[in-house]
Amino acid sequence: MKDTGVKGLDGQIAVVTGAARGIGRAVAIRLAAMGATVALVARDQGQLEALAKEIQSDGGQAVVATCDLLNPALIVQLGKRIRADYGRCDILVNNAGVGNLGQPLWEMPLEEWELLMATNLRAPYLMIQAFAPLMVEAKRGHIVNISSLAGKNPLPNGAAYAASKWGLNGLTYSVAEELRSHGVRVSVVAPGSVNTHFSGGSGKDPAKALQPDDIAQVVALLVTQAPQSFISEVLVRPTQK
Ligand code: NAP
Repeated sequence: MKDTGVKGLDGQIAVVTGAARGIGRAVAIRLAAMGATVALVARDQGQLEALAKEIQSDGGQAVVATCDLLNPALIVQLGKRIRADYGRCDILVNNAGVGNLGQPLWEMPLEEWELLMATNLRAPYLMIQAFAPLMVEAKRGHIVNISSLAGKNPLPNGAAYAASKWGLNGLTYSVAEELRSHGVRVSVVAPGSVNTHFSGGSGKDPAKALQPDDIAQVVALLVTQAPQSFISEVLVRPTQK
């Protein structure tokens, strides 16, 4: 198992969306290495099963939680399952996302806009609705939303993606204020280009990109802050442009 040198999540339950590959996979591996039991959420059950086996064979704990985040009823079911099985959710990482880069907004079909918004913005809302009550009851918890530097800047030929991430940032800042008096921290991480399947079509040089574990390291930092300390936003840039 990856030795992060940081433990401290023993007994905690972490739900990570988009855990099948890329950033979510790296986050799941790191949180499991720190002692959390990680619920692996994505649609590709085979990938999730393989990852759960890998985590378990390294001495960690993970459960497969196959779920299509486009289906609100399945998200409600997932929340009920975690409540029934564990009675708690300490960490929720809303990471799953899709991009549709390379075309101007005026040529983008409506169904692509809808898919992007439903995955990148509506799913985090539904996941928060499913899991925040468990955190509020426990008076503790941490929600980390994975946004993008495209949520801080204009992105020509990626306007809908940028809009979804600007929206996710606004959602995060606002929900953070709703939940902080309940002991629940809500943070956003905004990476630049990360070397994943997602960024394959971006045309950026993968050698100059961030690695998925760079983002996992930031998530680990956020969820291990002392309770009185709340890092609300982290922008992560590759060193080389
Ligand atoms: P990725 O390699 O394409 O992985 C995306 C993950 O999301 C997969 O596990 C996918 O699994 C899951 N997913 C997509 N739609 C889903 C759905 N309807 N239901 C459940 N799971 C779904 O992407 P990544 O690069 O790791 O990106 C992760 C996040 O980082 C995204 O929010 C992205 O916007 C953000 N980000 C990425 C970059 C970058 O350059 N890579 C930069 C900034 C921000 P299934 O297909 O099996 O469902």
